[in-house]
Amino acid sequence: MCTLCLRPDSIEHTFLDCTVTTALYLKAISWFNHENDTVITLTNKQIAFNDIPRLTQLTDYPRRRLHLFVIVLKQYTFKKSSYVVSVSAFTYSSFICEAD
Ligand SMILES: [Zn+2]
Repeated sequence: MCTLCLRPDSIEHTFLDCTVTTALYLKAISWFNHENDTVITLTNKQIAFNDIPRLTQLTDYPRRRLHLFVIVLKQYTFKKSSYVVSVSAFTYSSFICEAD
């Protein structure tokens, strides 16, 4: 049982189908866009498989930040899927700021 949404759990569910993960990804990418003045959209599948488009409008630095951001986002999702917690974008942005 998924500890986040109480539906049947699997790795596929956690990273592709979980409504809580989807909401977190949307908030996280929105935060990234706000912080980097970008308009990027990524699906759960693109995030799960690191299938990030080239995004030629980005210079090298924000592109690298996006790739690192996606890796940390997945690590955070995996860690939080093990506990019953309320995940918020504020929590996530605080986590990212602590890592800087
Ligand atoms: Zn779930």
